[in-house]
Amino acid sequence: IQRIAVLTSGGDAPGMNAALRAVVLAADHYGIEVIAFRHGYQGLLDNEYTLMQPKDVQHVLQYSGTIIKSARCHRFKEDSAAVEAAANLNALALDALIIIGGDGSFRGAEHLANHWQGQIIGVPGTIDNDLYGTDATIGYATAVTIAMDALDKIRDTADAMDRVFIVEVMGRHAGFIGLGSAMAAGAERMILPELQKDKPLTISALVKHIHRVQEIRGEGSYVMVLSEHQWPGGAVALAEQLDAEYDLPCRPCLLGHIQRGGAPAPADRILASELGVHAVELILQGKHRVMAGMRANQCVDVPLRDTWEKKNPLAANLLRIQHEIFNPVKKNPRRN
Ligand code: ATP
Repeated sequence: IQRIAVLTSGGDAPGMNAALRAVVLAADHYGIEVIAFRHGYQGLLDNEYTLMQPKDVQHVLQYSGTIIKSARCHRFKEDSAAVEAAANLNALALDALIIIGGDGSFRGAEHLANHWQGQIIGVPGTIDNDLYGTDATIGYATAVTIAMDALDKIRDTADAMDRVFIVEVMGRHAGFIGLGSAMAAGAERMILPELQKDKPLTISALVKHIHRVQEIRGEGSYVMVLSEHQWPGGAVALAEQLDAEYDLPCRPCLLGHIQRGGAPAPADRILASELGVHAVELILQGKHRVMAGMRANQCVDVPLRDTWEKKNPLAANLLRIQHEIFNPVKKNPRRN
């Protein structure tokens, strides 16, 4: 192995820079040259690349975003794009490509692997935590921390006014950020994609729960976490409905892209550092079409296809605790 490339693709995630740094430092350690394609798959098609040396990744792990830029590239789904990308990779005499991104980026990696002979390794970089084969993805810990901080702040004002609040978080297909932040901040309710798919919450059931919680606790606030796209019109529409139709003063708060910024959490920096090095070492072991993952503190590799075809379920015990012990919907016969 003499020369490898790296790129970041799809939604940026805190810790991508730490993963890039780890790839560059590990490659340098093993005497491998690294180039980075800028702007994800778009840069691969445009031949927009730059040589990466240890000095280029000094002091970047404390920043979110990605210094080599990310992008979405719809054209990459076409066969002609993968053929073009393969030609570009061959022209640069590359032995392997490391792709830091989410499930879409890994589908793109598989697509490319059908047209290119070099080794392809994925590194899980997405705030959504929705990749099978790793206990956590790079960026998830930071996103949960940001959502938790916001929920804590909302709680102060919600409590002062005995108000209902809806905080909308990212994760339209997976409720990990919603569940994690709700648990960490003691939210009373979660509206998550996995729960909505099983049994969509009705407004009357929600109102009943709000009254029930208020009845048990006396005065106070009720804060709910809503994953984006899980209610028609989102948090704003739901808040208006509760206020107007049910006389429940309610305020929405949309966190949006602040969930991707700021200083990456230590857990993300450390995970990214370990997985970036692991990705380079997997190349040296001759691995191909796998994602570098972390399971029970062990570096593992998982077939790329499994990362989106199989699913990590939401933690059943956390759901049980939230629904049955902390914020029960049903009356508890043990309590009088
Ligand atoms: P996140 O979920 O965190 O935003 P992601 O990697 O899932 O990250 P996507 O926008 O879904 O983000 O995918 C990133 C890029 O991967 C796409 O813009 C496209 O270039 C490529 N891609 C996605 N799906 C495919 C596919 N089926 N075939 C080829 N390329 C794909």
